[in-house]
Amino acid sequence: MPIRQLSPAVVAQIAAGEVIERPAAVVKELVENAIDAGARTVKIEIRGGGLDLIRVVDDGCGIPAAELELAFNRHATSKLVTVGDLFDVHTLGFRGEALASVAAVADVTVVSRPESQSAGGLIELRAGEVVGRGHRGCGVGTTVSVRNLFAGLPVRLKFLRSAKSETGQVAHLVTQYALSYPEVRFSIIAEGRPLFGSLGSGDRLEALARVYGTSTARALLSASSVDGPIVLNGWCSPPELTRASRAYVSFFVNRRWVRDRALAMAVDEAYRAIIPRGRYPIVALDLTIPAADLDVNVHPAKAELRFAGEAKIRELVRSAIQRALDDRQPVNLRAPRPMSPSGATQVRLPAPVAPPIQARRLSLAIAEPEPADYSVPVRGPQLPELRVIGQMGDTFIICEGIAGLYLVDQHRAHERVLHDRFAQ
Ligand code: ADP
Ligand code: MG
Repeated sequence: MPIRQLSPAVVAQIAAGEVIERPAAVVKELVENAIDAGARTVKIEIRGGGLDLIRVVDDGCGIPAAELELAFNRHATSKLVTVGDLFDVHTLGFRGEALASVAAVADVTVVSRPESQSAGGLIELRAGEVVGRGHRGCGVGTTVSVRNLFAGLPVRLKFLRSAKSETGQVAHLVTQYALSYPEVRFSIIAEGRPLFGSLGSGDRLEALARVYGTSTARALLSASSVDGPIVLNGWCSPPELTRASRAYVSFFVNRRWVRDRALAMAVDEAYRAIIPRGRYPIVALDLTIPAADLDVNVHPAKAELRFAGEAKIRELVRSAIQRALDDRQPVNLRAPRPMSPSGATQVRLPAPVAPPIQARRLSLAIAEPEPADYSVPVRGPQLPELRVIGQMGDTFIICEGIAGLYLVDQHRAHERVLHDRFAQ
């Protein structure tokens, strides 16, 4: 067969295949775009395990209407300009490929409004071609809706797992971003039901409590180390707190969630002698490395890295965990919060409703976005997940949260529950 130049459509499919292999990959790219846009709230909604619908709503800087079409061009990005920039990457995205890749394998609609525009710009693409443009009233930020993912690619569909399993992968991914960006409020709704929500309070330990549960977070040990410009911070579990899979070992390099063999091996080395085979610790480590020592441009999905001085970093990770295990003091005991009245704060429940108090667990509602509502509502403060530990004089419910003790005025809570019930 003679050599021929592939058509742009075939080239687009090949390139898209590298970036978008499953629904979680779409969510990853859209969530990264939201974070790069400075969003403080990121709502993710999926249906059919992500094949029917993936919608990501953010309150970030938005895309000017005049640039909406350009954003879908391959290698169109606002994040870098020169080759030099490639070695000084400070954003999660930089290749300008994600939107083009998603549009090559799904139907995409974007509604986006920067602060300078009074209405949102809208663009609709089918099979990578623009089929609609318009305007829509919405709040500042961006909503990307992806439908019929891989509908034109039966081969790719064959390699996907059940909707439940794909949803699980999306949920896992979002929890990792919630750990890396505790100041951002993430929520996922899958098949119409709230699956996970972080508070966006900026407190990493609280984010860990949301992801792994309060009692697990309280048992974690703090690990930290500094070697010149390289800084390591994070948490690791004591040897009696293990899991059956490595999915609970997370690394964030310059706040990018990465899966890196060298770092995973460093963790294995630290725990090898003290946990049984086939068990894995819970670890969440943040590494700050000078951008110039890091090559993130190794793989289109940007999940792999190359860094200068790998052996040194591996040793830093191993020794930091080793030290944390030797000291063995749970994080919350190391930095006790003041329990005096001056350290207490009264929290007013936000306007939207908390679900009724359940037997021993009080978890607060995640706002469910209206499908047609592209704006991000402003919400009041939220309580962290609380565990009821007792009652005092028929007046207060005593709860334990990640930041310490909470006293819930039970009569006011009851009034609130009744009020919300009537309001429904
Ligand atoms: P990259 O993130 O690598 O730049 P993408 O294809 O993901 O490439 O996005 C292209 C461009 O579209 C981005 O550089 C950014 O300017 C814009 N963009 C995409 N998503 C968003 C968003 N949620 N908010 C604001 N701008 C966005
Ligand atoms: Mg991107």
